[in-house]
Amino acid sequence: MALTSGQNMRYARQILLPEVSGAGQEALLAARVLVVGAGGLGAPVLLYLAAAGVGRIVIADDDAVTLSNLQRQVLYETADVGRPKAACAAARLAALNPDAAVEALALRVSAANAAELVAACDVAVDCCDNFGSRFALGDACLAEGKPLVSAAVQGFSGQLAVFDPAHGGPCFRCFNPAPPPRDGRACEEIGILGAVAGMVGAAQALAVLKLILGLGDDAQGFLQVFDGLAGTARRVRLPRDPACPACGGR
Ligand SMILES: [Zn+2]
Repeated sequence: MALTSGQNMRYARQILLPEVSGAGQEALLAARVLVVGAGGLGAPVLLYLAAAGVGRIVIADDDAVTLSNLQRQVLYETADVGRPKAACAAARLAALNPDAAVEALALRVSAANAAELVAACDVAVDCCDNFGSRFALGDACLAEGKPLVSAAVQGFSGQLAVFDPAHGGPCFRCFNPAPPPRDGRACEEIGILGAVAGMVGAAQALAVLKLILGLGDDAQGFLQVFDGLAGTARRVRLPRDPACPACGGR
């Protein structure tokens, strides 16, 4: 697949990077990414993936846009309030970049549907707001051998990890063996500054692009911890857990 002159212009700034080049751009255009959750993290993830020319993007989100979303979910406009997020997000991405074929799924990811969704993608992105979807997605990625880029934010802080057990890294349950007893919606109770979700979501998009381009060692097991108030980011080792309830016997 050769790049068109329009694509060479659109992606010129990243094709200039030797780590990307024309071959990397073709890989991005051929990639299929599943993004679960089109909220505070999903918004920057989706915008940066579509802008970079990821060719196929599947958005799974069963919520509608509310007025209190707009403070951080920068995909949406005031006129979108009341409309389904997945469809609004797909329309926004199509307007941003016609190279991105976007599929909008108004559904909540669960153990019943996660495997089918994950099997069809190259990389899955966890931008979920609930533990049920997070764990279903993590288990499906382990079963299907697909890398998972997972992140969470709260207050001024956030964390991000790539789980790629098929390539020697930890699985989601090496880090989170089981859901906490109460499935609280932390963001609604504790609060979040929108720019913090933007910072961590952009880092999540970067991790996805690096996986597609084969750059870096994120998939070998690291946790990135962001403190927006202190203005710091650190990276700590996140090894496989030999006693993991999900991947321990493999
Ligand atoms: Zn594990």
